[in-house]
Amino acid sequence: MLGYYEYFPQKRMNVSVKETGESKYKILVAEKDFEAGDVIYKEDPLVVALDSDLQQMGTHCSHCLRLIHKGMAIKPESDRLNAIYCSKECQVASKAESQNLLFTLESPLPPGMDQGLSSLTKPKREEAQKVFTDYLKSTGKTNPLLLARLLARQISLETAKFTPNQPGGIVEPPLTDEGSPGYGISDHIERLRYIDVNALEAERKMITEVLGSALPGLESTLPEDKHALAMGKIAYNAFGVCYSGGRDDKPVSTARPEDQERTRTPYGTSRQIGSGLYVVSAYLAHSCEPNVRPSFSSGTAELHLVASRAIKKGDQLTMAFVDVTQHPDETAEQARRRRRFELARGWRFKCECSRCVSDVTDEAEGDLGVGRDESKVEAAVSRVESGQAGIMPDTD
Ligand SMILES: [Zn+2]
Ligand SMILES: [Zn+2]
Repeated sequence: MLGYYEYFPQKRMNVSVKETGESKYKILVAEKDFEAGDVIYKEDPLVVALDSDLQQMGTHCSHCLRLIHKGMAIKPESDRLNAIYCSKECQVASKAESQNLLFTLESPLPPGMDQGLSSLTKPKREEAQKVFTDYLKSTGKTNPLLLARLLARQISLETAKFTPNQPGGIVEPPLTDEGSPGYGISDHIERLRYIDVNALEAERKMITEVLGSALPGLESTLPEDKHALAMGKIAYNAFGVCYSGGRDDKPVSTARPEDQERTRTPYGTSRQIGSGLYVVSAYLAHSCEPNVRPSFSSGTAELHLVASRAIKKGDQLTMAFVDVTQHPDETAEQARRRRRFELARGWRFKCECSRCVSDVTDEAEGDLGVGRDESKVEAAVSRVESGQAGIMPDTD
């Protein structure tokens, strides 16, 4: 029986997902040789969230994260998140995928199906959206927005099924090769690794209210266990989007170090302009001596995976989740300690890459506060993959 990983990632990406020995850890492997500087693949994010301060300033496209020149932006009239767009295409896509449901008072249902619902739900929707956007503004968080957009995108796909072939309607993102069973966003998300995080009930309620006030019934979309799991996946897998060297004016988070949002980026989360979820790149493991790096050289959230050195077919691809360079004011040992603490806090593992092992000195490291690797996969997924259950993918 052909499984999910026969069709995912698509062949055109030049990589495949393989399992490592005993631990059954999923890794990304090159399917051909590459020279240093080669682009291995380009990947669009499933969902993105602009950093909160940039969202408020209205300087970047809310959909592709492009910097917009003054006066060139498309600014929708009633958008509670203060979203602006670089193009009509970005506006249409964003609206259809999630923005309409989350941050406007327009009907979340296809034309002809609303039957007065949106005028009835208006006051509650307005209030719920205000609470959520105020929260995002005051905390500067992006992970709750990534989650809301992920849920909204899946809901929008469901409602679009009522009226197929609608112009401007949305379809599942093409993430698997032709001939595959009907894998959808939920199938991709289900397989991602996660860590245990402190999922806040207040955030769950806000998202639930935004969804439930728009479409009665949706308030049950996000029970507590699902919320914790989804936030753990976002925490583990989100990438920092950073182009042209990134920025140095990102507001410093006032959250406790253990509650700060961290994204995978070798440039440092403090240089990013936003975060995104990339389902293929999510399989890249960390190394302090990586052979690939994410690049955003198109000046958008499109991720280009670039080879940092020559790579042979069959090699595992690794990236640096954090800034692994040695800063001018650091010794090698201090740099080692800094990156290992960041990895332990953000991704809950003790790095055992060859550089970490060879850089080790007599100096005591101190307790990193994590086990060897605390990330995990959903129990249902590991059961299916070890052949203990015969669950078929969603084909409806
Ligand atoms: Zn755009
Ligand atoms: Zn390391």
